[in-house]
Amino acid sequence: MSMEIQVLPLAAKKPGIVDESKLAFGTQFTDRMFLMEFEAGRGWHSARILPYGPFTLDPACAVLHYAQEIFEGLKAFRRPDGSVALFRPMDNVRRFNRSASRMCMPEVDEEFFLGALKQLVKLEADWVPRSEGTSLYVRPTMIATDPFLGVRPSKTYYCYIILSPVGAYYKGGFSPVKIWIADEFVRSAPGGTGEAKTGGNYAASLRASMEATEKGFDQVLWLDAVHRKYVEEVGSMNICFLYDGKIVTSPLKGTILDGITRRSILDLARDLGYQIEERALSVDEIIDGAQSGRLKEAFGTGTAVVVSAVGQFTYRDRTVVLGDGKPGELTQKLYDTLTGIQYGRIPDKHGWVQ
Ligand code: PMP
Repeated sequence: MSMEIQVLPLAAKKPGIVDESKLAFGTQFTDRMFLMEFEAGRGWHSARILPYGPFTLDPACAVLHYAQEIFEGLKAFRRPDGSVALFRPMDNVRRFNRSASRMCMPEVDEEFFLGALKQLVKLEADWVPRSEGTSLYVRPTMIATDPFLGVRPSKTYYCYIILSPVGAYYKGGFSPVKIWIADEFVRSAPGGTGEAKTGGNYAASLRASMEATEKGFDQVLWLDAVHRKYVEEVGSMNICFLYDGKIVTSPLKGTILDGITRRSILDLARDLGYQIEERALSVDEIIDGAQSGRLKEAFGTGTAVVVSAVGQFTYRDRTVVLGDGKPGELTQKLYDTLTGIQYGRIPDKHGWVQ
């Protein structure tokens, strides 16, 4: 697709990042954004990079009523030589299109969209922070804009990319988290939209997260909707276990997100000689395994945190503890290796960095 991207002038620049040590997640946005529009019969058009700012949306528009929306999340990293790298960005673009297809939204041209994303990040490169653990979070989004209250796929869409400098996730060190295994709430069901990165999945997860926080836990572990017994995901991360000396992680069967960190971590574990079992671990295996020692480590994987060590699981009135309050050896090794590749401290033999 050879659509031209118009770059509109910036009237004024924001002050930029004042103090990198105070960066949070997703609270500050850069000077520019990318936007293109879709119309049935015409396709994508009017691609432009313009000053970051609000849209005018009709109050009747489809996304605001029926949540026809998808998004992605990836990061740009500052390298030791000052250059900026993206981690497996084409994987995100492809997943964006898979989400689009599930939600009856138009796909984007993958090469064009990745090119637009890179052009935006290049223009905004000053916004990529430099301190340890910081990055520029990239958020591609597509929303349905038809001002129509009927339930059907919209005929018009906005597709945009915004950028947000984010702070180091592990400011107080890489410490293990407390997990609450939800037995009342489910995140997704077979045939549903669990595999798509669509806003409604996240809205539906809020109630369980809120209850977990109120009870003093850090994250919710989601069980499968059919048996209420098998592990699916944790918070908005995939989850891996070191069980019987093998890496066990939930299979991609349509109810969990096909995480790019998950994929990368599994490859790194294979490099270390670990056998990978893509099968759903049951709650009983977690509880019994933690007590018998068959379950040695557990960690979540996702773009925001990279790897999150699990220190304990609570199911109904039982709590089991993993390890000694520090991340397990393998968890730490995988975290160090993946972040090393992303930040350019470790050679990227898989060709993940662009
Ligand atoms: N599961 C869910 C539900 C998520 O929202 C995310 C974050 N995108 C992940 C898993 C991890 O995916 P990734 O490694 O691609 O960030």
